[in-house]
Amino acid sequence: MPVRHAILVAVTLLSAPAGRGAPLVIAHRGASGYLPEHTLEAKAVAHAQAADFVEQDVVLSRDDVPVVLHDLYLDAVSDVAEVYPGRSRDDGRFYALDFTLAELRRLRLSERLDPRTGRQLHPGRFPAGTGRFQIVTLAEELEFLAGLDRSTGRRTGVYPEIKRPAWHRDAGRDISPIVLRVLREHGFATKADACFLQCFDADEVRRLRHDLGWEGRLVQLVGEVADGGPDPLLATGALDDLAAIADGLGVPLARVVDPAGRPTGLVDAAHRAGLVVHAYTFRRDRLPAFATDADTALRLVFVAAGVDGLFSDFPDVCVDWLRTARR
Ligand code: CA
Repeated sequence: MPVRHAILVAVTLLSAPAGRGAPLVIAHRGASGYLPEHTLEAKAVAHAQAADFVEQDVVLSRDDVPVVLHDLYLDAVSDVAEVYPGRSRDDGRFYALDFTLAELRRLRLSERLDPRTGRQLHPGRFPAGTGRFQIVTLAEELEFLAGLDRSTGRRTGVYPEIKRPAWHRDAGRDISPIVLRVLREHGFATKADACFLQCFDADEVRRLRHDLGWEGRLVQLVGEVADGGPDPLLATGALDDLAAIADGLGVPLARVVDPAGRPTGLVDAAHRAGLVVHAYTFRRDRLPAFATDADTALRLVFVAAGVDGLFSDFPDVCVDWLRTARR
């Protein structure tokens, strides 16, 4: 980055208010820019690239084992249609919940395909259909990351997301208590532990805190604002209500920086309410609309908007950028 920018960035990052340290780099589905998402290989690279946190999306298998997968269905990231022909539902999709863990273990994971075209979603990435990658359980991944922490002497946090709890409930399953049990068994239970638990479902976030007794850090995920209207989170009281339950907010990049490259004000408002803000998702090969290069994108997100964390498919790019900025 240009020297002038580097100095400005360093000053801004170093002058972050007490209690909020340098921004966190969260490996989005692992280092998914380099290896198929949610494989242990992608998690190992994320750890080696010094991501502060590594993300796990979690769904249930037929036998109620929490497994690390982004979608409820398997067809965009595995060879399920070849291995289990005829096991799709009426919508043509193959759901993880319809397969036991033993059955899921027979699948090969692959770089994500675009279901509309059947082609690789991110063309420049790891070649789809190659490699031998497997679905892992949440417990296996937590054990794997703990092993890397021990062998490298560097602590990397975990960032599990409970996927579609209401959908699971409609199917007769209660995913949240199962995920909490696995987290607690692996030492994640309080706000002092290196874990953020995240969910889009606001009712479930409340339930996790009030009914299920989750005492660890909790992040409310939110989606895009429809039609580019005003951000409902900026309505009076909205962020304060959230802060009564959650520790942080997970928001799309477009809600922290507007198309003209100006901070939207959401991060500052969230900070005033006592919430941290983690934005998603930085992709070097699919930059946000407000930037034409990675350096500009990261400067706007980390410095101008002042987020506390960034989900990234390319953890190394963000880690390197922050290191350069701090020098
Ligand atoms: Ca996620």
